[in-house]
Amino acid sequence: MNAPSSPPVSTQATLERWLTGPRVGALPMRGAGQTPPALSFEFFPPKTDVLETQLWACIRRLEPLAPRFVSVTYGAGGSTQSRTHSTVARIVTETTLTPAAHLTCVGATRAEVDAVARQYWEAGVRHIVALRGDVPGGGAYAPHPEGYAYAADLVAGLKRVADFEISVAAYPETHPTAASPLADLDNLKRKLDAGATRAITNFFFDNASFLRFLDLALAAGITAPIVPGIMPVSNFTQLQKFAAMSGVTVPPWLGELFDGIADDMETRRMVAAVAAAEQVRMLQANGIDEFHFYTLNRPDLTYAIAHILGVRPKK
Ligand SMILES: Cc1cc2nc3c(=O)[nH]c(=O)nc-3n(C[C@H](O)[C@H](O)[C@H](O)COP(=O)(O)OP(=O)(O)OC[C@H]3O[C@@H](n4cnc5c(N)ncnc54)[C@H](O)[C@@H]3O)c2cc1C
Repeated sequence: MNAPSSPPVSTQATLERWLTGPRVGALPMRGAGQTPPALSFEFFPPKTDVLETQLWACIRRLEPLAPRFVSVTYGAGGSTQSRTHSTVARIVTETTLTPAAHLTCVGATRAEVDAVARQYWEAGVRHIVALRGDVPGGGAYAPHPEGYAYAADLVAGLKRVADFEISVAAYPETHPTAASPLADLDNLKRKLDAGATRAITNFFFDNASFLRFLDLALAAGITAPIVPGIMPVSNFTQLQKFAAMSGVTVPPWLGELFDGIADDMETRRMVAAVAAAEQVRMLQANGIDEFHFYTLNRPDLTYAIAHILGVRPKK
């Protein structure tokens, strides 16, 4: 008998792939000891009655998923101050949800910001997402002469008003105007040292950049949870606009995924759900077990992804 010849290279490559084993687990099996991740959902305050109805339908649909908290954004320069407040107050009184109110310090005095914070505390709100905010209409940022200069100062100020739970923003791809990635990380650390206990990231599509950011944060001595912000979007044009506004990279594969389906909404929605579910599952495979969803006041994609992750409505 002839000695067996060595297998062709392609067979070896196949074998190696098999032997490495699955790098991502199967879809979550309920009852198999897998705990679904903790979720939080972000909404924006409505401008019209129609949008108000849409927001509340969204809140009601997502409420049974029992998120850790839901947050409501604050318009540029406080432009939605009263709508943010009334939405958050209604969440306190009419739902089982725990709200977090976003609050910015751009263009306001410390006294004005403190007064808004006090109103929240009196309305039963105990969680603030503390942000610097941007200049309405664009333009270079300059602190208000009597205001909190940056988010770290705001966090310290809020802690003086009351013992709020405070979350702050983080940027896996670095804040667009930061002096450097390291300076931005120092800033994140300052916000946490000032009393924040959680960072929520800007949305991103490149998981590798988020995981690298976690490594750098850990190396900088940051141990507070850094919760990835996930934006499931079925409209690629809108997605590109959001990304350009906040310095977020849109990887070429994402464009390819949506290529040729601009006029096919149903397929776009399915593709969006798969892309976002894939993103969170890859993060889960890397040990992430908490996610913040930018819902854009539309519940369906977030609900479907939560379901895929094993989250079920609480009876
Ligand atoms: C999860 C999340 C939620 C958001 N919600 C809202 C919202 O509801 N409403 C809204 O208007 N915007 C919101 N934003 C956007 C945010 O307001 C902008 O990204 C803003 O440009 C920065 O806010 P910040 O709190 O990160 O600022 P900061 O943490 O103050 O940082 C802003 C920039 O200043 C730099 N910096 C900090 N301190 C100093 C210093 N002492 N000297 C020099 N540079 C410094 C930082 O490195 C960074 O580049 C949100 C962003 C995220 C990620």
